Amino acid sequence: MFRTILIANRGEIACRIIRSARRMGIRSVAVYSEADQGALHVDMANEAICIGPPPSTESYLNIPAILDAIAESGAEAVHPGYGFLSENAEFAEMLAERGVVFIGPDPRAIRLMGDKIQAKKLAGEVGVPTVPGHVEPLEDPRVAREIARSIGYPVLLKASAGGGGKGIRRIGADEEMEAGLRACRAEALSSFGDGRVFLEKYVADPRHIEIQILADGAGNVVHLGERECSLQRRHQKVIEEAPSPFVTPELRAEMGACAVDLARAVDYVSAGTVEFIVGADRAFYFLEMNTRLQVEHPVTEEVTGLDLVEQMIRIAAG
Ligand code: ADP
Repeated sequence: MFRTILIANRGEIACRIIRSARRMGIRSVAVYSEADQGALHVDMANEAICIGPPPSTESYLNIPAILDAIAESGAEAVHPGYGFLSENAEFAEMLAERGVVFIGPDPRAIRLMGDKIQAKKLAGEVGVPTVPGHVEPLEDPRVAREIARSIGYPVLLKASAGGGGKGIRRIGADEEMEAGLRACRAEALSSFGDGRVFLEKYVADPRHIEIQILADGAGNVVHLGERECSLQRRHQKVIEEAPSPFVTPELRAEMGACAVDLARAVDYVSAGTVEFIVGADRAFYFLEMNTRLQVEHPVTEEVTGLDLVEQMIRIAAG
């Protein structure tokens, strides 16, 4: 087991990781920006290292400063938490080059799943159902209209690099397509630096149900059931519930098997979440995979009694 881990994050998630590390007898190293000198995570860790001024681009996203902190502290592994560098494949690679363990998946899985077009194609290839649509970047509104007509309105335009409910636009009819596509591409470019947009069928009265998985890197992949996240505002989750009152044991087994298959297809290691959208008819379709610990992971911890951070650390330690 590791003797020392560094937590490349702040706030609640940093505190939560420190608590698990402490219980496991592992020393924790916090990093902090000048604005967070008096923060709880700094107080709780065994050691704390300042990594820069308040703006996150100069501190929590400042990879050279974090690499220096790792070297200075002698940490053998890094937990990225969520947000910041948690889905940054280059950061994971730089750690590997330095012989430091990234407590999370392989850079390859992060890259593959970080792109919705690629992830959707891959899901289709391994037999996981995906929302009917067109998984090629769209530019020409005429082409987009033809495709939308062939699958039937309403449709959704989605940014391939999107996240956090941004870059999603519902198009109800031909007339809305041109302006909608232009706006969606502009938003994708300004928010994610990647203007690629694709199109899929809008699933009416949808439920968002996601499956938590754990993969140990030795060929064992399990799912820990679902979280229902249908209560949303602006395509962002507000309240989550587990187990879902909508999911039958049969549906859970089916969705769980799909999530496990997809994780296997990218040689996934660590904790991850496979998101599905489910129609009123209980037909489910893959949406995306989050290759990190999610904010809402304690919902699953409450129903399973497992500590997911502990599991991630144990998996990373082999
Ligand atoms: P993000 O990565 O921005 O969170 P998602 O693809 O996970 O984007 O979608 C966010 C939410 O948008 C979903 O939980 C759902 O409410 C809605 N949504 C996504 N795709 C569809 C769809 N095809 N039909 C209806 N609603 C959708």
